[in-house]
Amino acid sequence: MAERSRRFFLSMASAAGTAGARMAAATLGDKPAVLGGRPIRKKPFPVWPIVRKSDEKVWMSVLRTLKWNRTRGSAVKQFEETWARRLGASYCLATSGGTTALWTALNALDVGPKDEVLVPPYTFIATVNVVLLQHALPVFVDTDRETFQIDAKKIEERITPRTRCILPVHMGGAAAEMDLILELARKHKLSVVEDACQSHLAEWRNQPVATVGDIGCFSFQASKNLNCGEGGALITNSDELIARAERFHTNGGSVGKADNPIPHRTNGCNLRMTEFQGALLAAQYDRVEEQAREREDHAGYLTSLFDEIDGIAPARVYEGCTRNAYHLYMFRYDPHAFAGLPREGFVKALRAEGVHCSTGYRPLNKDKFLEHTFQSRAFRSIYSDKELNNWRERNHTPENDRLCSEAVWLTQSKLLGSRDDMDQIAEAVRKIQAFAPEIRKAGVG
Ligand SMILES: *Cc1c(COP(=O)(O)O)cnc(C)c1O
Repeated sequence: MAERSRRFFLSMASAAGTAGARMAAATLGDKPAVLGGRPIRKKPFPVWPIVRKSDEKVWMSVLRTLKWNRTRGSAVKQFEETWARRLGASYCLATSGGTTALWTALNALDVGPKDEVLVPPYTFIATVNVVLLQHALPVFVDTDRETFQIDAKKIEERITPRTRCILPVHMGGAAAEMDLILELARKHKLSVVEDACQSHLAEWRNQPVATVGDIGCFSFQASKNLNCGEGGALITNSDELIARAERFHTNGGSVGKADNPIPHRTNGCNLRMTEFQGALLAAQYDRVEEQAREREDHAGYLTSLFDEIDGIAPARVYEGCTRNAYHLYMFRYDPHAFAGLPREGFVKALRAEGVHCSTGYRPLNKDKFLEHTFQSRAFRSIYSDKELNNWRERNHTPENDRLCSEAVWLTQSKLLGSRDDMDQIAEAVRKIQAFAPEIRKAGVG
């Protein structure tokens, strides 16, 4: 079928509903790609990362300086200054990764055994792993299904005398409900660590996320909107917290330095970023803003197209989230609007049309790794059966369970092409909707 007639039948599809689409398609002899038809997309989406000539130059220039680590070089320190300034924060400390930035944050706040840290279950496992590394308990707060964020209204019921810290994740590039989170933190004297690993340049009430709580953490891992393969950063305005973080990330720091406000060495690790990573990040400084604008523009357009399609519900954004970084384009899929086609079948069919997508996270709070960790010698020596049973009794997040069965994700680089790409994504979804009964009958998924 010629491109023009395809457009025609698809525009008919949206105008006349699925029956009209099936009729038009039958006349024109097209089929969904998953059943052997021609895919909507022939061109691949932009690949990630996008490398420029200037990146090669900075990489080679670090190589030639022979100063490859932070202690001797200047690239990491320069990046830290630039990133802090861009965010309007006092301090930035680069780390080896987002996980280690979060781990450093919890160390700086002295979170430890018998402490409870409030976390969302809808997140990457690292958010929870760092709590366990400190032998503290991650206490899960249910998810707001409409926004995919931690449900801030359900935080207070999880607070106990042992709660030390709230660790919200700015999921997918949007922001968690920070007004309520800060209010609760003040009321109950808790620290707030923002996991901003997916939300570079996102904003809460026009203030960059990661600067809203006590500490904010970024990841520069390969998939992230700003990346150097592996890397991370911790953001804070506190003199004390940055000093503690700095020391932890470099084996407890050096004793007796004039600029070291803590006179004694404590334990720590080596979590430093290399000069290569720092230079590569700095080289992308202008690009990260340009790309953020492109993603916003294309995501907004895609949402306007999806709003016209029954059964596709793009993640809603809180009113206070004034900028969305769109690390992921997330939506909920409702099989009822697709003739009962299960989500797995929809995802397969969409992939076959040339639009790669995934089903996202599984319920993290039910993952066996938690129980395995609780069986470790360290945890058994800290927590009694009664304490762990008490944790188990509180570990219910029904909204999140449901979200994990409904979600579909598109990754950020799909938003870096053209508006035509967005039209084609929506076309692919409409085509699947039109043929949903056939796809379901064929047993796809
Ligand atoms: C990527 C990510 C992390 C971990 O970052 P790494 O750099 O991979 O260690 C933590 N939290 C969230 C929400 C992430 O997406």
